Amino acid sequence: MCNCCSANRADIMESESFKKCVDFHGHICPGLSIGYKAATEAMRRLNEERSPDEEIVAVVETDACSADAVQVLTGCTFGKGNFIYKDHGKMVLTLFSRNSGRGVRLSMRPNMMSPNEEHSALIQKVRSGEATKEETDRFHELHSQRSRDILLTPADALFNIRTVQMTPPSKAVIEPSEPCFICGEPTMRTKLEMVDDKKICRGCL
Ligand SMILES: [Zn+2]
Ligand SMILES: [Zn+2]
Repeated sequence: MCNCCSANRADIMESESFKKCVDFHGHICPGLSIGYKAATEAMRRLNEERSPDEEIVAVVETDACSADAVQVLTGCTFGKGNFIYKDHGKMVLTLFSRNSGRGVRLSMRPNMMSPNEEHSALIQKVRSGEATKEETDRFHELHSQRSRDILLTPADALFNIRTVQMTPPSKAVIEPSEPCFICGEPTMRTKLEMVDDKKICRGCL
């Protein structure tokens, strides 16, 4: 049984919410499980539901697999502008509720994700394309085992969790577009640069 959500691991992997993450991400992996745990715990603590609009804001500090589970579960998405990516290379999720003004930050504890020696070696081999069929099968077995273990680990053991004060990021703005002088493609006005009195898009600069 999982201490934080009183489900056993088979239940979590079979749950609609986890399946949706796998559908979106494409495969089951430890990173997706980490993102699943972080997002569900953050929402539970903020007492929030999936965000249909911009009610909650997610700030992630890695663009690894975990970020996909966060988008699926919180409804904070790249396209809605309430999913903010900071390129810090850290498994950190900060979730902020506009309704309550509360925020929660979860950062992974050291060594919680480290694969064992056999797993690490197989990851390298599979990546390099030199793994045999047996090694690939073994890799998938360990990878899936690791994903399950993470789902079963209580959130408190996986993450340092604290509440945070944060000024809500401004809501997404919709700006009118104007054509770029060079390519003619409609471009959000605020993203055009003035060069010799001509408005040029960043792609053409
Ligand atoms: Zn993945
Ligand atoms: Zn252009």
